[in-house]
This record gives sequence, structure tokens and C-alpha cells, in this order.
Amino acid sequence: MTKRVLITGAAGFLGSHLCDRFIAEGFRVVAMDNLITGDLKNIEHLFGKERFEFYHHDVTTFVHVAGRLDYILHFASPASPIDYLKIPIQTLKVGSLGTHNLLGLAKEKKARILIASTSEVYGDPLVHPQREDYYGNVNTIGPRGVYDEAKRFQESITMAYHRFHGMETRIARIFNTYGPRMRLNDGRVIPAFIGQALRGEDLTVFGDGQQTRSFCYVNDQIDGLFRLLMSDYTLPVNIGNPDEISILDFAEEIIKLTGTDQKIVFKPLPKDDPLQRQPDITKAREILDWEPKVDRAEGMAKTYEYFKNLSLEDLLKSEHKDFSKHIRK
Ligand code: NAD
Ligand code: UDP
Repeated sequence: MTKRVLITGAAGFLGSHLCDRFIAEGFRVVAMDNLITGDLKNIEHLFGKERFEFYHHDVTTFVHVAGRLDYILHFASPASPIDYLKIPIQTLKVGSLGTHNLLGLAKEKKARILIASTSEVYGDPLVHPQREDYYGNVNTIGPRGVYDEAKRFQESITMAYHRFHGMETRIARIFNTYGPRMRLNDGRVIPAFIGQALRGEDLTVFGDGQQTRSFCYVNDQIDGLFRLLMSDYTLPVNIGNPDEISILDFAEEIIKLTGTDQKIVFKPLPKDDPLQRQPDITKAREILDWEPKVDRAEGMAKTYEYFKNLSLEDLLKSEHKDFSKHIRK
């Protein structure tokens, strides 16, 4: 029988790519989003497909889905520092109350649930690269704490449901992922730099740019997540690309890629901005037989192509189309 999967955060960047993957794998997809940071344009191409349905719903309130569910992927949550600083209470609620609601639904439906955790659970890490057994270094009361602690709580409650109720749970610790359908104005470094290059603005490097990140192309990420869901492994697994680069070197790469004649300007480093980040993916390699295949040059070329083809209107501000006839209340 065709398997049915619920994906929350489905109109967002990762959620929309997950919808594509599960449709391509032959699943029935129930997509859910409250559109607080997402955009229906990301899943517009799926509307009208017999195996796809969309619910406009805030998962911090009781979540009801009629019929059976085999899998749940909980991806609803603001994900960029700009977004979660703008909506801190919603960020805390979707990671805590939202996760509680979805675990309750998974228990009721006897569904396997995968939750989207993050490298932010390691905070500003004192261990490098980050392995899953590192407990992290998080400032609970700093501005990023709303996201980091919500995600840490999310992991705790998920393990509690696994241990206490014997549920099938999966925890993905996702490291910086990029690709088409990121929101141009979400403030994350890749859309920020590309948007600046396309608009003819200087590239804003925060701090001295010596902080590092390791960027994973979206198709690799989605494949890792799919494998984790289908595996029988319950503890957290890092999913990301270990190819680490400083933000300053990355800005130089963007200047080359886009051919912009703009320069780099330095802005203050945001509070608690992690100074280094690189996943240790030994576990993913061993347990999921997974590793990233798309290098940064290839992934960034595809991503730039996507942003370049957006209209001027999109480049400045996302336009809103009327999708009301496709939405189930
Ligand atoms: P995104 O902002 O593009 O997508 C998040 C989606 O969740 C949006 O469509 C938003 O409208 C929806 N949403 C937020 N609150 C909701 C609520 N209360 N009810 C229903 N829908 C809600 O972000 P993304 O990059 O696609 O991230 C998706 C998930 O992956 C998040 O949980 C994020 O923490 C996690 N993650 C992403 C990355 C990354 O690099 N992209 C890294 C680590 C973790
Ligand atoms: N950053 C930057 N300029 C920008 C946006 C971000 O230098 O315009 C830096 C930011 O300070 C961080 C890194 O780029 O060190 C990655 O930031 P992002 O917001 O993408 O995600 P994070 O990994 O911090 O969650």
C-alpha cells in the first residue's frame, strides 16, 4: 500500500525539497505550514497532484490529520538567525509545543517520526569538528538561545517519547545547508551575499570573517535525511558537508562566482555567532552509507543560477500569489 508521510514546514526551503523527494519516491504527501517564513511558491508545482495535499496550519496548536500516517518529518521552525531573532517566542513554541504535538500525533498514528535538529545544539563549539557525543556550549539566555534551546528541548522530548512510549524516532542534526528556494532576504549568508552581488551592493562580512562554516548542498542533505528516516538508528546523526571555509574566503568565492565588482565591508559579529563549525560525519558514513557528493563549486553554481533567474520583484521582495483553492482548512 502507498505510504503516507506528513511534512511540517513544507513550504520552506528544506520542507519543499523533502516534498519533492517523497513524491518522487511514490509516497502520499501531507504538507503542513503556517507560512510564517515559508512561501507557497516553493510547492506550487505540486498542487493538483493526486498524491499531494496541503494544510495551512500552525503546529503549535493541536495537529489533526485524518487517516493513516506512516511517517512524520517535523521541519517547521524559523531557521535563520534573522528570522528567529524577529520571532523568538514562535521559535521557542514550534520547537517545544509543536514538537510535543507532532510526537503525540506520531504516537496516535503509530508513525515513525524524524525531527529536524541542528548543529546549533553544539552552540559555539569547544570541540572541533563536532561529533554527536559532544554536549555543546550554548548560551541559554543569549539571543540565539531561543532557537538553540528549543532544538535541544526537541531532542530531549523526542528521546523521552522513544524511551517511555517505545516510539520509532529519528534525530537529524542538520549543518548549514543551501540551494534553490532559500529565501533571498532570510539573512543567511548565502542568500545574503548572492542578493548583495545581484543588487550591486557591497558584501557584508560579519566580524573579521575568520569564523568558519561547512556548507552542504540541498540534494545531498535530502538524501541523508531520507536514509536516516529509513534506517533503524535512534540516536542523533550529523548530516552536513565537512568541507569547511572561513566566511571571508567564502565572500571572495562569491565575488569570483558572480563577477561582481563590489567590495567586502566588515560589520559587527552578531552575539554568540559560532566561531567554527564542521560536522564529523563518521556516523552518517557508517550507519547510512551516506556522504555528500556535490562540492561547493557545483552547488554554488546551481544556487547562483536559481537566484539569477528570479525576477527583479522577487529579488527585492517576494510577491504573493493567491493559492487559496489548494489549501485545506
Ligand atoms: P525555512 O524557514 O525555509 O522553513 C521553515 C518552514 O516552517 C517555513 O515554511 C515556515 O513557514 C514553517 N513554520 C514555522 N513555524 C511554523 C509553525 N508554527 N507551524 C507550521 N509551520 C511553521 O527553513 P529551512 O531552512 O527549510 O529549515 C527547516 C528545518 O530545518 C527547521 O526546523 C530548521 O531548524 C532545520 N535546519 C535547517 C538548516 C539549514 O541550513 N537550512 C540547518 C539546521 C537545521
Ligand atoms: N554572515 C556574514 N554576513 C552576512 C550574513 C552572515 O558574515 O551578511 C556570517 C554570520 O555571522 C555567520 C556565517 O556568516 O558567521 C553564517 O551565518 P548564517 O546566518 O548563514 O547561519 P549560522 O550558521 O550563523 O546559523
